[in-house]
Amino acid sequence: MPAETKLLITIDGPAGAGKTTASRRLAARLGYRHIDTGALYRAVAYAARARGIDPEDDAALGRLLAAPTIGFAPAPAEGPARVTVDGEDVTEAIRTPEIAQLASAISARPVVRAGLLGLQRDLGRGKGAVFEGRDMGTVVFPEADLKFFLTASEEARARRRYAEMGGERSGLRFEAVRDELRRRDRRDAERAVAPLRAAADAILIDSSDLTLEQVVEAMLGRVQARLAPPRNG
Ligand code: C5P
Repeated sequence: MPAETKLLITIDGPAGAGKTTASRRLAARLGYRHIDTGALYRAVAYAARARGIDPEDDAALGRLLAAPTIGFAPAPAEGPARVTVDGEDVTEAIRTPEIAQLASAISARPVVRAGLLGLQRDLGRGKGAVFEGRDMGTVVFPEADLKFFLTASEEARARRRYAEMGGERSGLRFEAVRDELRRRDRRDAERAVAPLRAAADAILIDSSDLTLEQVVEAMLGRVQARLAPPRNG
């Protein structure tokens, strides 16, 4: 593979494993785009709620997905992707625990997954991108050049998520954050379509005892090896 070839890299894993920060930094270091596909599912959840659509109403969800409701502009360097619903900027508004749970519920519906498949594959054209999600390496990009599955113990993930949300200052209870995470992971892993799991050819990284910088360095090492494989002899 020539050195200038751009890769399509996928990072899957459960909530709170550090996927977003790691994939953002990895993309920035490589000069690649970072595509957070969770934001797409959150945007659909936001739009469904705004329209009063029941999360189990497949016909209404199908109509929602068929209309040009969701806008997605890949992230500027190290920032979040700009997400719009009906032209309204919802980049911040989709980051609530309520939208996360609703996204997890609607993302189990095949009509929603099918509706977002084309958009994700379009965003992957031309490669030079780091895609993060739950089924990037298994379903959306089975032919990706490099796949990672980033995980961490439930305790470590809950701690990180709690700190991100402001810790004790947030007024939230640690146990509540951990239970929310557990509920969402269980649903994501147990759903029938595109469940959260590592692709057979994914590189597993457990970030429980690593800093995010160490995670990114480990990933960069794999990228470099893929771009310039060591020669034998
Ligand atoms: O990654 P994030 O936590 O923002 O994702 C929100 C929810 O969207 C996840 O809990 C999951 O149910 C769903 N999702 C998905 N497939 C993806 C990305 C996210 O089902 N590729």
